[in-house]
Amino acid sequence: MYTCGPTVYNYAHIGNFRAFLFEDLLKRWLKHRGFKVLHVMNLTDVDDKTIKGSQKQGSSLKRFTEYYANAFFEDAATLNIEPANHYPRATEHIAEMAALIEELMDKGYAYRGEDGSIYYAINKFKAYGRLSKIRVAQLKTGARVKVDEYAKEEAQDFALWKAWTPEDGNVFWETKLGKGRPGWHIECSAMSMKYLGKTFDIHCGGVDNIFPHHENEIAQSEAATGKTFANYWLHNEHLLVEGKRMAKRYGNYYTLRDLIDKNCDPRAIRFLLLSTHYRQQFNFTFEALEAAKSGIERIENLLHRLHDVSDIDSHEKAEELIERARNQFGNAMDDDLNTNVALASVFDFVREVNNLIDANTLSIEEARKVQAFFAEFDAVFGILGEAKKETLTQEAQELVAKREEARKAKDWKTADELRQQLKAMGFVIEDTAQGVRWRRDKN
Ligand SMILES: [Zn+2]
Repeated sequence: MYTCGPTVYNYAHIGNFRAFLFEDLLKRWLKHRGFKVLHVMNLTDVDDKTIKGSQKQGSSLKRFTEYYANAFFEDAATLNIEPANHYPRATEHIAEMAALIEELMDKGYAYRGEDGSIYYAINKFKAYGRLSKIRVAQLKTGARVKVDEYAKEEAQDFALWKAWTPEDGNVFWETKLGKGRPGWHIECSAMSMKYLGKTFDIHCGGVDNIFPHHENEIAQSEAATGKTFANYWLHNEHLLVEGKRMAKRYGNYYTLRDLIDKNCDPRAIRFLLLSTHYRQQFNFTFEALEAAKSGIERIENLLHRLHDVSDIDSHEKAEELIERARNQFGNAMDDDLNTNVALASVFDFVREVNNLIDANTLSIEEARKVQAFFAEFDAVFGILGEAKKETLTQEAQELVAKREEARKAKDWKTADELRQQLKAMGFVIEDTAQGVRWRRDKN
């Protein structure tokens, strides 16, 4: 599985992370279903944007991109994204790219322009436009584009190797192709095939990668190898923020760090970004983020309650519910990662198990099976993590015991004071028909 990684010229924004989270979910689900996944994600550390950024900051390209690469790894860990097996950097694979470009020239798919750069001749590759469904017949042949990003309407021969110009400063490599640097698209062809072979299974990215980036990757790779490049392409839709396309000028542009600075819970961010089907446009709002947070709390509260069910005979009602939840969840995820339906079944299940506990009809053995289901769920969604390990601190335990004594002695005032003390420590105490319960106060 190859997923287009970040261009390390700034902090990744939540739209970027929607893609990385969808890919993480896909990988986790495939693993859950027993597939072995070899995951490669590139880091684009040389392109128009990184060069401009490093020059603006007055630092070397390496130092500049290293900083943002590290920031990306930190952010990915914050969002509990499982690391890829390989994170190849473009600057470390110049030789592979140059070799691929040479091969394309030998086979007649690439040519040198009068500016010294090497371009891909899209009219030579008959399948050009197959992925993005653009009609190449209408294009003027020989029109060329040197920048890395352009629109469908501008489909034309694109740069594989960019001859050095003074604007590139000290960013260049001396290769057989001449002094210069690679275009953006060639790096993904060269690095994916290096680590995954000429044909691999899955290639992912955002919808904005379909054209020109992925169209060009196919053209480069298949022209060189004569083989299918990737068997399956999966693209996630755009993210809107508060109903609008995210843009600095709308004031709705957020990096992950911006949200963490606003005290947003990273688990809620992860959950929210995964909760809408990846091929649907998704509208990020702070209200929805709150709802995601309480969704996680609903599951966690149930998990806490499972610890203190009383020892009764099994009623087998739970077994049936677990079986149904597991099937519904699995079928929905198998259906192109239909998270909307999968999560609806999980929350139905939460409600039903709560009902069983309320009625004191859940056995300890059944509670363990419910826990096992949520462990499976969380291996895929990755949002519960630490909550499962939560226990009362020693000090809190003593206060709970003291409060019980006070209640037995009908000393309501002391009992209430102790409850307040526990609340200040972050533990909410509830008296129920089945005894005292506690949960973490999330606020
Ligand atoms: Zn790519």
